Amino acid sequence: MNQTTLTDSSTEIPEKANKTILLAKHHGFCHGVKKAVDKTTQTGEEQEKPVYVLGQLIHNQQVINKLSEQGIQTVETLDQVPDNSVCVIRTHGASPELVQQAEARGISVSDATCPDVRLVQNKATELVKEGYTVIVVGKKDHPEVIGITAHASQIPNAYIVAINDPKDIPQKLENLPKRRIGVVSQTTQMEESFFDMIKELAKVAKELKVFNTICPATFFRQNAALELSKQVDFMVVIGGKNSSNTTHLAEICKEQGTQTVHIETYQELEGNQELLAAQTIGVTAGASTPEWLVQEVTDYLHTL
Ligand code: SF4
Repeated sequence: MNQTTLTDSSTEIPEKANKTILLAKHHGFCHGVKKAVDKTTQTGEEQEKPVYVLGQLIHNQQVINKLSEQGIQTVETLDQVPDNSVCVIRTHGASPELVQQAEARGISVSDATCPDVRLVQNKATELVKEGYTVIVVGKKDHPEVIGITAHASQIPNAYIVAINDPKDIPQKLENLPKRRIGVVSQTTQMEESFFDMIKELAKVAKELKVFNTICPATFFRQNAALELSKQVDFMVVIGGKNSSNTTHLAEICKEQGTQTVHIETYQELEGNQELLAAQTIGVTAGASTPEWLVQEVTDYLHTL
């Protein structure tokens, strides 16, 4: 098997490789995703009842396909889950209301919410209880943000809103109390965007309480991608096209001026002329990308 060099280890190049291939130190499955995939697989093996995952367990179609081959189906809504079956709550979490609806129908809930996402739900709830108007820095339609908002909104008189762009602050806060503002972040938010948001919120709030809830796994992958993109001619970022954290990794590499492609499988690299011309190639993968997909890509790169 070909060997790929890690960025913080020796830069020994495999003898037969035509190009130098560097793998980001932090890449691929984070602990939350690994736990969710293991738990779901185990539930599928142990349960006699049919197992359904509500929404994509993680944003990676290849993993979803493998679960499907094991008989674990992904559905979009709770209506599609039959009564008295098993329903897995994915890493992004879900609203408490949805869990209650499932249990009321005799559906066993297997909760694979990532502990780091659970922490954000708890912090947002804590801020609401303390009387802050709560801002979730993130995309309002992202399942994780929907879950965070739903948890905190259980508290009476909660003021909570998701904002992803500092320019939207005046409009989003128009009818909300602005004196005391509490902030949490979607776990996969880019650090720079989060800091920009805090800077702007400081201009409108009398009191600002901030929990930086960007997940360390995200942070480590972003930093490793940034450092690696400075050293190479071409970056390959592997992961679901619908994965926020993978998309952010690709954006970070592009912002360095490095030619970058965001792919799901190695086949998307075939015929790429810029890649063929590159001498030094960096590889990284989002937190929802399994190692076997990374291995397929590095194996392909070693054939060039
Ligand atoms: S990226 Fe962080 S928050 Fe998201 S699943 Fe992984 S460990 Fe959890």
